[in-house]
Amino acid sequence: MQLTDLSPQVYEARWWEPMVDGRLHCYLCPRHCHIGEGQNGFCFIRRNEGGRLLQLGYGRPAALAMDPIEKKPLSHFFPGTKILSMGTAGCNMGCSFCQNWDISKAKSDQGNALNLSAEQVVEVALEHHSPHIAFTYNEPTIWGEYVIDVAREAHAAGLNTVMVSNGYITREAFFDIYRYIDAANIDLKAFTEDFYGKMTLTHLQPVLDTLKWLRHETGVWFEITNLIIPTLNDSNSEFKELCDWALNNLGDDVPLHFTAFHPDFKLQDKPPTPPETLHRARRIAMEMGMKYVYEGNIFSEAANTICPGCKQVVITRSWHSVMSNKLKNGRCGNCGTRIAGVFTRAEAEKRREWAGALESS
Ligand code: SF4
Repeated sequence: MQLTDLSPQVYEARWWEPMVDGRLHCYLCPRHCHIGEGQNGFCFIRRNEGGRLLQLGYGRPAALAMDPIEKKPLSHFFPGTKILSMGTAGCNMGCSFCQNWDISKAKSDQGNALNLSAEQVVEVALEHHSPHIAFTYNEPTIWGEYVIDVAREAHAAGLNTVMVSNGYITREAFFDIYRYIDAANIDLKAFTEDFYGKMTLTHLQPVLDTLKWLRHETGVWFEITNLIIPTLNDSNSEFKELCDWALNNLGDDVPLHFTAFHPDFKLQDKPPTPPETLHRARRIAMEMGMKYVYEGNIFSEAANTICPGCKQVVITRSWHSVMSNKLKNGRCGNCGTRIAGVFTRAEAEKRREWAGALESS
């Protein structure tokens, strides 16, 4: 198909209001930017032009690729399938260690963006036999208008939708967007306000709120990623506090991915995360009672899914590839224990019922 047959669109954003001093207040994320005429918000892709807030990323993916779903990472949502993955420019966090900085730190006119309508994205997914579409690479919250339109088209075509997000979103926008989302991976980058303040220029609490909304107020399947950076967020006490909070607020069956950092962007003075650190974090999490704990960005047997009942491997992985899958209707093929997750289309559709109820209320 022709991917460049649309003109770049001028698309008015949602989630903003005019201020008395003429600036615009964007309330899509907890940063609450106040944006003057001709200026962009912190995320670069929301711009005040003539007293209207424009969404510069709409229809303009800067990256589009087919990935294994394990790469998001999602280990309990249709394991072994592939997923059309897309991202735009910009980000609402300011992480000095960004592992995707070439697009997240780009302004909307700096990337090699395609012109692609929501319908065309879904056509690409169907042409490549992808059963899902992921909003990923940069922070999809900041192009939530486009996410919603692509996700609605995806659902109409029978595809699932996935957010890979830093979880930095206001409650109002959260429900507007996540009602069209089937699964998410949320980055919980650390468990201290100090780290969030200094290393991401944001705050921890809104991310914790997002995780609680996902767990208690939606049917969205979600997993958590914690990127471990040597000396900055790798202490035993921090792992314990993170797991304690997760166990008390989300439950023991939320998959937790500890992943390895590599020096990138502005954070070049820290070494890559040693595998032993991931092993230590995983051991602590499992001893505390988390049922599904993974290691990522390294070659590890901890990419496998272990049955919490009989402790046998039910899904064997090599990096992001599924080598064998002994799940039977979402249960361990060995002992019959139910494995948390979404493994069938019927389950995915059942989980969407909360969004339908939201629609009709
Ligand atoms: S989405 Fe962008 S413009 Fe809006 S508040 Fe967040 S960083 Fe600012």
